[in-house]
Amino acid sequence: MPDPMTLYLAAPRGFCAGVDRAIRIVEMALEKWGAPVYVRHEIVHNRFVVDGLRAKGAIFVEELSECPPDRPVVFSAHGVPKAVPAEAEAREMLFVDATCPLVSKVHREAEKHHASGLQMVMIGHAGHPEVIGTMGQIPDGGVILVETVADVAHIAPRDPERLAFITQTTLSVDDTAEVVEALRARFPAIVGPRREDICDATTNRQEAVTAMAPQVDALLVIGAPNSSNSKRLVEVGARAGCSYSQLIQRATDIDWRALQGARAVGITAGASAPEVLVEEVVAAFRARYAVEIREVETAREKVTFQVPRVLREQVA
Ligand code: SF4
Repeated sequence: MPDPMTLYLAAPRGFCAGVDRAIRIVEMALEKWGAPVYVRHEIVHNRFVVDGLRAKGAIFVEELSECPPDRPVVFSAHGVPKAVPAEAEAREMLFVDATCPLVSKVHREAEKHHASGLQMVMIGHAGHPEVIGTMGQIPDGGVILVETVADVAHIAPRDPERLAFITQTTLSVDDTAEVVEALRARFPAIVGPRREDICDATTNRQEAVTAMAPQVDALLVIGAPNSSNSKRLVEVGARAGCSYSQLIQRATDIDWRALQGARAVGITAGASAPEVLVEEVVAAFRARYAVEIREVETAREKVTFQVPRVLREQVA
């Protein structure tokens, strides 16, 4: 008789509306224009998703210069600097922007602050494509990047009285609140959103992990090592008391020895990880344990985002 195991499944988990839209955009572009369709950067940070689209005829590249001018190109959900669509236009390329509308909202905020003469502090992770895209909405020098509370003490804005802050959408809610507090303490005149720009999908997934953490011996987060929101879920789990909080890409990554003795394991998935990978992980547990499933639901998501009109009109 196999040992008992209770699996707590976070809800919500996995695909968010922005990821779902970005994948649909590539699929509809392939349907409409045929293969190949070029995609600048991984459309979302998940190898399983990327491999699936590649099999259908998508070609993933890092730079626009790698795309021929006569094939369509899709920009990833993370957003791109303004220079990228400008270059595509200059080369008369057909392009579709799959930037998540919630990232685009931050782009518009950045433009608004810049137009008002404010310098910006962006809270985010250096090198992440979303940060590069958001900082690239305005000319160089308009945004100072901070990653941690400690960074706040070292920045030297042009005018401390003329500052605004914006954030990456997929940060840890708690860590970001601390950075915002440090910014407000050092620069009382700083303007910004009421809390931050972290999207609801990110917040909801973190809340579900926080709620399940006290009930589990270990937490597994299904997601990619370059997925910001997935890595934050691992940190949120550890912060909420999970002594074993681990990122895995597939069921084959599960370290069964580390789970020895565990009787309750929490499972969640980052916003770019498909549900089929959750099912795969659950099946791997069923192969070893007598599994009981409990769902920990802290929110229901009903949001969906439309694809750009160029695709709605022609793939009916
Ligand atoms: S995590 Fe949030 S910002 Fe990122 S794609 Fe999903 S909904 Fe959009």
